[in-house]
This record gives sequence, structure tokens and C-alpha cells, in this order.
Amino acid sequence: MHPTDGTCIFCKIVAGQIPCFKLYEDADTIAFMDINPVNEGHALAVAKGHHPTVHDIPADVLGKVAATAQRIARAQQKALGPSGINLLQANGPGAGQTVFHLHFHVLPRTAQDGELKVNWGHNPGDMARIKATYEKMLAAM
Ligand code: 5GP
Ligand code: ZN
Repeated sequence: MHPTDGTCIFCKIVAGQIPCFKLYEDADTIAFMDINPVNEGHALAVAKGHHPTVHDIPADVLGKVAATAQRIARAQQKALGPSGINLLQANGPGAGQTVFHLHFHVLPRTAQDGELKVNWGHNPGDMARIKATYEKMLAAM
């Protein structure tokens, strides 16, 4: 069994209690679209277990989450053709972490997005647009 925390939003997504645009799932990881995308296609690769940060997660599970991030990055490249992709993983408030359940941001970059700040703000995305991009990415998985 994975460790879980009933108050955690990502544990609720893992348990299916909150909906998400799910891209991928295996025994230890899940990936879905970020609802406050900083760029089109912004997705999250998440451990199924509630491991708050890099300090808590077993190394083998971290490796599995990284493999899922790689899988999502491949789909983004194929579906969206970004000029680059950042994998970003925050640990602690000082690093801009807001959800204390380990995840990688898989972030497509465009030539136009300038020098994206590491601690970007969270602005609610347009759900119809997120869904349309999700469908393109899902078809490339
Ligand atoms: P952090 O700030 O911890 O690095 O990243 C947390 C991410 O989770 C943010 O980019 C935020 O937009 C995203 N997020 C927060 N709540 C939800 C939610 O309920 N559903 C989805 N899909 N993403 C969420
Ligand atoms: Zn959790």
C-alpha cells in the first residue's frame, strides 16, 4: 500500500475523489494536466504515495516518477512540438512548493515565453483549452 494523507489534494486525485485530466497511470505513479498551466501542455508526474519531498521519497520510487515525467515529455514533444521542455521539482516553501506530495512539473517551453521564472504564479487555466491540449497529448502517449 502507498502512504496516503486524507487532507492532500494529490492523494485525493490518486484515490479518484477529485477529477483530473489523466494522461498516464501505473502501479506507483500517475500523470495529469496542471489546472493552472504556466504554458500550454503543462503536466505533472506524481508519485501515488504521499511522500512530501525529495527528502522523504525512496530513491526507487523517485526513479519511477522521473520515468513517468520522461514519458509525458515524449508525448508533449510529439503532440505540441515545443522548442524545449523543463522538468522541475520543488521541495519546501522556499523552493516554491505548494503541494507537499512529490511531483515533477513537465513544462513545454516556447520561444515566446521569455525567461520563465522558476516560481511562477498560479493562474487558473481555461478548462476547455486544457482539455483540448490534453486530448492531443493523450493521442501521442
Ligand atoms: P508546486 O507549487 O507544489 O510545485 O506545484 C503544485 C502544482 O499543482 C501547481 O502547479 C498547481 O497548479 C497544481 N495543482 C494544485 N491543485 C491542483 C488540482 O486540484 N488539480 C490539478 N490538476 N493540479 C493542481
Ligand atoms: Zn498526498
